[in-house]
Order: sequence, then structure tokens, then C-alpha cells
Amino acid sequence: MRIAVFSTKPYDEHFLLEANRNYNHELIFLEPRLTTKTVTLAEGCPAVCVFVNDELNADVLEKLSEQGTCLIALRAAGFNNVDLVTADRLGMTVVRVPAYSPDAVAEHTVGLMLVLNRKIHRSYARVREGNFALEGLLGFDMHGRTVGVIGTGKIGRIVARILVGFGCHILAYDPYPHAEIEEMGGRYVDLPELLTQSDIITLHVPLTPETHHLINATAISQMKRGVMVINTSRGALLDTEVIIEALKSGQVGYLGLDVYEEESDLFFEDLSNTVIQDDVFARLLTFPNVIVTGHQAFFTETAIRAIAETTLANVSEWERLGGCAAEVTIDLKNVVTTKHQG
Ligand code: NAD
Repeated sequence: MRIAVFSTKPYDEHFLLEANRNYNHELIFLEPRLTTKTVTLAEGCPAVCVFVNDELNADVLEKLSEQGTCLIALRAAGFNNVDLVTADRLGMTVVRVPAYSPDAVAEHTVGLMLVLNRKIHRSYARVREGNFALEGLLGFDMHGRTVGVIGTGKIGRIVARILVGFGCHILAYDPYPHAEIEEMGGRYVDLPELLTQSDIITLHVPLTPETHHLINATAISQMKRGVMVINTSRGALLDTEVIIEALKSGQVGYLGLDVYEEESDLFFEDLSNTVIQDDVFARLLTFPNVIVTGHQAFFTETAIRAIAETTLANVSEWERLGGCAAEVTIDLKNVVTTKHQG
């Protein structure tokens, strides 16, 4: 099938070409993000392949449909950037990669915790300047600390398991509890208890209308003073302007982000020769106790290879059967569901 691959980076091209040896699709690699301005590049392609910051709003979907596209293949697990109601109305199928390497994201999450706690980002810079002083680098033992895991799906459970290995106590919150958390010695509690009891809070829920700004002023006010907050899920789970105020007051003591509400104008591009126009983001970068990585938690060889393989397999399955196990669907009440829960 002829597939327009938007937001292509050299690594996408490399791994998609490698996986395509088994599928023989016609891949049209396009560097730009999919937006209303670039949608015409997909003219005549029955499928488009997109990533997390491509825009699949109603205007883009209508134009794609007019141009003959009927399949949207996400090379990601999250689908918050797709207007599923419009896609459904237009008879378009949306498929995703439900799981590629939850370990990759979980390991990066724990990496952010360790860097922030032991201030490795600061010691890296100091030692290169010949400064071997320890003042300002005091950390805490992870052993014995309480970590609140919000969302205990594939990634949240691996984060919890790694942290149990460190000797942390796990509190979890998820409307759909998983037996593995209690088997590893963790405990499900309600959200207010998790917020008030945790030394570290880490987010592993999808972005939905319900979880938008889950971490807002009210939630932050319930947290322990000096808490560490980690978000490797989706930027808008957290109200960035509110958390900046909490960092200034010391209510939040550490912040680790791999995602940002307005990341689509920044992430995945080399902007090192330009002036960042986003003042909220620029303010975040001024704190010594904030680490931001540019949506790289998924970025391991294992994960990229699995994403490429599953994406092309999804397209082939849909082409062959007219449906796909990894299809994202909505039910009559517009509640988003996915056929594949693996
Ligand atoms: P998953 O579907 O396996 O788990 C999500 C869990 O969140 C489920 O158990 C669900 O019941 C729970 N949940 C839903 N709404 C909730 C709420 N309001 N409160 C508490 N829990 C709630 O997903 P996953 O594979 O673990 O991925 C989690 C998120 O990680 C994804 O949605 C995606 O946004 C993000 N992600 C980020 C990267 C990255 O590179 N930074 C890569 C992959 C995924």
C-alpha cells in the first residue's frame, strides 16, 4: 500500500525500510509534520503514517478523506492527537502500536528520578569545569521512600517493579487495579491519599478529557512539601504554569518531564540556533531542580524496531482483512476504546 509517512526522521526511515523488507509497502517519507498546511503531501495515499505531534483534527481528516486516505497508522501508543469522532464519521480506520517497549519508557522514568535526586545533571557540568565541590548535590536514599504511581498499565507497573527493587514503598491509583501491584507489595489507594503520602509521584495515564490537568493547583496543594513529580506520559496531564509557581514556592522540590503541553512547536527539532519563543517552557529551563528531555523515553533500538514492525504489520492486516486488532474505536457514547488491550 502507498503510505505517506509524516514527521520522518532518519531513524524512522532506517527502521521502517528494514521492516518493510517483509511487507513491500510503498513508503513516501515526508519530513514535515502533518498539519492543515502539509496535508496535500498525502494526495493519493490510501494510508498515512503519523507520530505524536502530527495534527489529525477535523480539518486535516476531512482533507485526507477527500484526497483518498482511509487508514491512519499511528507509530505510537497514544492517540490523543486524533479526532476520533470525525475519523469515525468519515469511515476512516485508526490503528496504533499498543505496546512496543514499555520497559524503555519505564527505565527512562526511573532515570529522571535518579538524575534529579542525585543531581547528576549538575555534577556532570561541575566536574567538566574542574569543580569537585559537593555543596548543593545532597540527595536522598530511594530505599524506604514512598512512590505514588498514577496509572498502573504496562508502563506504570514496570516502574513500580523497578522501584520495589530499590526498596521503595508503592502506592498506586488506577480505576482498573492490576493484581501485579499488590503481588509486588504495593497498595492501591484513592488519589488524595496517594498525593498526600508520596515522596515521588509519577504519571502513567493516557491523556483524555478526564486526565487533562490531573495535576492542577488543588492536586499540588495536597502533595508533601518538596515532592518530586515525574511526567513521561503526555504534557497536558500537568498544568505547567501552576507547577512553575509550585517550584518557585518550594511546594514541588523536583520536576522531571519528558513531555510538555506545547511540545509540538519544540520537540524533535534542532532549535539550537533559534530563540525559544515559549516563555513558559523557557522558565522551566531556569530551575536547577527541573530536568526536561524531549520526548525521548520511548527512544531505544528495541522500541523503534518494534514500532516500525507493528506499524507495517497493522497496515498489511487492515489491507488483507479490512480490519485490525490494534484499531482504535469509539463506542456509541463516544467513549474511546481499543480492541487490543495487550
Ligand atoms: P496503558 O494503557 O497500558 O495504561 C494506562 C493506565 O492508565 C491504565 O491502567 C488505565 O486504567 C489507567 N488510567 C486511565 N485513566 C486513569 C485515571 N484517570 N487515573 C488513573 N489511571 C488511569 O498505557 P501505557 O502503555 O502504560 O502508557 C501510559 C502512557 O505513557 C500513554 O498513554 C502515553 O501517553 C505515554 N507514553 C509516553 C511515551 C514517551 O516516549 N514519553 C511512550 C509511550 C507511551
